[in-house]
Amino acid sequence: MSDPDHYAVLGVEPTADPETIREAWRFQLRAFHPDRFSSEQHARAERMAKRVNEAWQVLGEPAARARYDRQRRDAAISGAVGASEILRELPCVSCGTLSAVPDQAGRTVTVKCPACQQQFTAIVGATLLGRPRLEARYLGGRHLLHLVAGDGTVTTVAARKLPTELALIEGETVSVVLRGRGRGARYVIVHGRITDMGWRTG
Ligand SMILES: [Zn+2]
Repeated sequence: MSDPDHYAVLGVEPTADPETIREAWRFQLRAFHPDRFSSEQHARAERMAKRVNEAWQVLGEPAARARYDRQRRDAAISGAVGASEILRELPCVSCGTLSAVPDQAGRTVTVKCPACQQQFTAIVGATLLGRPRLEARYLGGRHLLHLVAGDGTVTTVAARKLPTELALIEGETVSVVLRGRGRGARYVIVHGRITDMGWRTG
């Protein structure tokens, strides 16, 4: 992948004023503070925080931002910033190896792991409807995720063990790697604008 777009990293419009950019930088730094993530996700969160700081170093400094805006415009004109196909990273249910799967706007597809050849199904690039809802059960609970696909189909998936960070992602794009049987989630992946954050759900 080419260099991430600094505006996309901070989640702001290219026309955003300095104060909006500063607030977005602070918000993203807190959201991706590595201390908030499990050891499994630590490296990804760290990478994300690094990108957030790199974006701030450019966009937070007027001269550097003006230079960056010029480069961005030139790149757009020459077509260097193409509308490339969006790929979603999905971990294999057996070995955890990541596969790059083209976005499906929330449709369910079968994925074959390039490492162990295991086949698994996944809902790719759906939109989370509201927040995951905790449903109490006799021993603990499970979280229900309502996902809407591009064609309006709503699917409900149950997941055990969702981290608190998931509360951030209302309305976000998510993929769910399903367990072999039933509609249970094995992994819930949150597609950030640059980094995919995945959780094994028990
Ligand atoms: Zn595998």
